[in-house]
Amino acid sequence: MMDSSKLPIRHFINSYRFLSNFYEKELFYLENGKFKSAEHAYQSTKARHFHDFEMIKMAETPEKAKCLGKKVELRKDWPFIRTQVMLNIIRRKFKDKDLREQLLNTGDADLIEGNKWHDNFWGVCLCHACRNLYPGPQNNLGKILMLVRDEAREEEEWLKDAEPDATGFPH
Ligand SMILES: [Zn+2]
Repeated sequence: MMDSSKLPIRHFINSYRFLSNFYEKELFYLENGKFKSAEHAYQSTKARHFHDFEMIKMAETPEKAKCLGKKVELRKDWPFIRTQVMLNIIRRKFKDKDLREQLLNTGDADLIEGNKWHDNFWGVCLCHACRNLYPGPQNNLGKILMLVRDEAREEEEWLKDAEPDATGFPH
C-alpha cells in the first residue's frame, strides 16, 4: 500500500481525475468569482476584455472554456504571469477539504500530466516524436501540484503541533 503510492501518476483519469484542471467541482477559485473548474478559471483569466472573461467563465464545460481561451485576445502580460496564475488557481482548488485529502493521499508520487496533445509545458506528451525532444518536457502543472501538496502537508503538520495536547493545554 505505502509503496504503490510512490509510483508516478502519469494519467489524471479515473481515481486521479481530481488532479486534472478539467475536473468539475464548483468552487471559489479566485477573488473574481466562482468557477466550475480550474480550467475555467485559468482560461478566463487570460482574456484581455471583460466580456471575454465572462464568456469563458460561463462556458458549459472545461473543454469549451479551453477552446474559447484560444480565440480571445490575451492580456498583454499573459506569458509572464500564466505560471503564477496557475499556481494561485491550484492553491485555491486544493483549499477544498475533500480534494486536499485526496491530494495528500498521493503521498510522494511524482505527478505528471501525461498527454497526447504535445503539451510539454504543463505536462509531458507521451507521443513518440515528443519523447526525443530537447530540452525535455517541463511538466509545470505536475510541479505546481507537487508544490501545493508539499504546502498542504506542511500546513497539516503545523496545525497538528499547534493543537492542544491531551493534558488540555489551553488555547
Ligand atoms: Zn507529442
